[in-house]
Amino acid sequence: MSTEEDKKPPYAIINAQILSDYLLSLGVIPRCTVCLSESLSVPEVRSAAGSVSCGTPLGTYANLFIMKSAYGVNANINCYALICECCGHVMNFRAENVLAWRHKIIMDKNRESK
Ligand SMILES: [Zn+2]
Repeated sequence: MSTEEDKKPPYAIINAQILSDYLLSLGVIPRCTVCLSESLSVPEVRSAAGSVSCGTPLGTYANLFIMKSAYGVNANINCYALICECCGHVMNFRAENVLAWRHKIIMDKNRESK
């Protein structure tokens, strides 16, 4: 079964709710590791024609940050961020882990619907 999500670019399918679901699936209650506040926000981008990336459908997505390595693009780390609204601490989660988890959820749903 093909869904709309299958057609989206891989980094576009993650939004704040999905990132929250990912953390809950790990048994983690999202909270600041510095001040323990549970008031967190996910930096988001809203795609519009010609923005974010070519072919990205309209929608609001978790912003993807790239930690650049001095040793070349193969050593870069892609991540999604959670920012504490109390102290400003930024927590990063490796994008590939989130995407792999999300992909598994979609595949499991597709299998169940057959
Ligand atoms: Zn904090």
